[in-house]
Amino acid sequence: MKTRKLLFSAFWALSSILIISCSETINQVEDTLASANDEKSSEVALAPGDSCTFSGELTETEIAGLMEMREEEKLAHDVYSTFFEMYDYVIFNNISKSENAHTSAVLYVMAGYGLEDPATGEEGMFTNPTFNELYASLTAKGSASLAEALRVGAFIEEYDINDLQNLLEETQNEDVIRVYSNLLRGSKNHLRAFTYALARQGETYIPTVISEEQYQEILEDSNTSEWTPGYYYYNSVDSTACDGTGPNF
Ligand code: ZN
Ligand code: ZN
Repeated sequence: MKTRKLLFSAFWALSSILIISCSETINQVEDTLASANDEKSSEVALAPGDSCTFSGELTETEIAGLMEMREEEKLAHDVYSTFFEMYDYVIFNNISKSENAHTSAVLYVMAGYGLEDPATGEEGMFTNPTFNELYASLTAKGSASLAEALRVGAFIEEYDINDLQNLLEETQNEDVIRVYSNLLRGSKNHLRAFTYALARQGETYIPTVISEEQYQEILEDSNTSEWTPGYYYYNSVDSTACDGTGPNF
């Protein structure tokens, strides 16, 4: 009887540790997104996109990829900033700032190679017609409820992860690889953050672009990776601005 009682208490102790560590992970993700992004946007402003020139040549495929990612990251920014206005839910504000840093990072490389910027500078407006359609359909979908908006967020991150992985397979250019790898890492963090936010709403997310297997790997990675809250692969404008990493991620 005593043993059973002991086992029972041990079980409860263990469950509460698990519950605490799970919510700590959620808080950690949210704190990270909350604290790191304000610094980031000011750092982006510190490093103008045309201050470096890169040597080497870009292929047509690489140029098309950069053009696409410049607006794809802007799409994420514009959708999240629309959702923040709709729901006043802080995660959209924080992640939209991060997307602003992502789209600036792509611009940084484009400018360094002398490419013309396709971005319109207007929220919800894109040169690539695919993104105009996506902006309209995704914001309409997310206007149904906060949970739908969070689902749209997770979908956009999956979409980015898939495109970035494909573009990484098509390039040997180190400047491009470095920027895409950082963007990919950012998208994985965002996918985790939207998943945790959905879990808080009592919702689960089923991936539609990447495989269920990769989705699970990304979620599990947050428990094992050396992901340092507040540190975004950026040291200073002087030491990293011209090595292809761009101003900040
Ligand atoms: Zn992004
Ligand atoms: Zn993202």
